[in-house]
Amino acid sequence: MSHTFLIHKADQPKQKIKREASGVNSKQILVVEDELDIAHLIKIHLMDVCDQVTLVHDGAQAVQLLKQKKWDAIILDLKLPNVDGLEICRRVRAENQWVPILMLTAKSTELDRVLGLEMGADDYLPKPFSVIELVARVKALLRRAQVTQAKEIPVENIVCEDLEINPEQRAVKLCGQQVKLTAKEFDLLHFFASHPDKVYNRSQLLDEVWGYGHDGYEHTVNSHMNRLRSKIEADTHQPKYIETVWGVGYKFIGQPA
Ligand code: CA
Repeated sequence: MSHTFLIHKADQPKQKIKREASGVNSKQILVVEDELDIAHLIKIHLMDVCDQVTLVHDGAQAVQLLKQKKWDAIILDLKLPNVDGLEICRRVRAENQWVPILMLTAKSTELDRVLGLEMGADDYLPKPFSVIELVARVKALLRRAQVTQAKEIPVENIVCEDLEINPEQRAVKLCGQQVKLTAKEFDLLHFFASHPDKVYNRSQLLDEVWGYGHDGYEHTVNSHMNRLRSKIEADTHQPKYIETVWGVGYKFIGQPA
């Protein structure tokens, strides 16, 4: 089994010069990929934008490394020996680690893409991919993480009617009871609650909540929104928090407590 990689001359790393200009160095990235040639190729090109790239070729080993230290980004193959990429992603998010995750997969089916994003991956790249594209996506994720960190200090709880959102713990309570949300459901809710009464369409939400590279996946927003609402709304036909604005998108209508 072999993968064709779209490697162009321009894909060759340009040491040092680009690294200083990128502004995203002193970063540590974990690459979990069992195909050794692909893993090494990724490493060579990423060394251009970050300080340390650690390769692992096995899912169980990745789980161990993720427990041991904090990473600035993870590149995660979907099919891996022992523990697969989706499961790793799920575990990382279940432990409230908000490191950016870029998922790789040999299958470019919609289902895989949607699953990866729903498990909390931040971005998704089907094989075969261009290494330039991969590096661009990683840079975007690192930049985005920096902006998010800068934006989220200080983080204040948002209380609306019976809903309480704690961004620091990424926890949500409804009438005092904990509501279990996935990473993206939380991000969506927090984003809406931070911008009350403002209408967002699906493509704006993809930009704001999912970030770079999700054009054309507006239905992902719908499925997340439906699940989020089923968890926080007592009656989804008469929502108290997130209202559908027909033909446009959604808006947060919860009133401050
Ligand atoms: Ca694989």
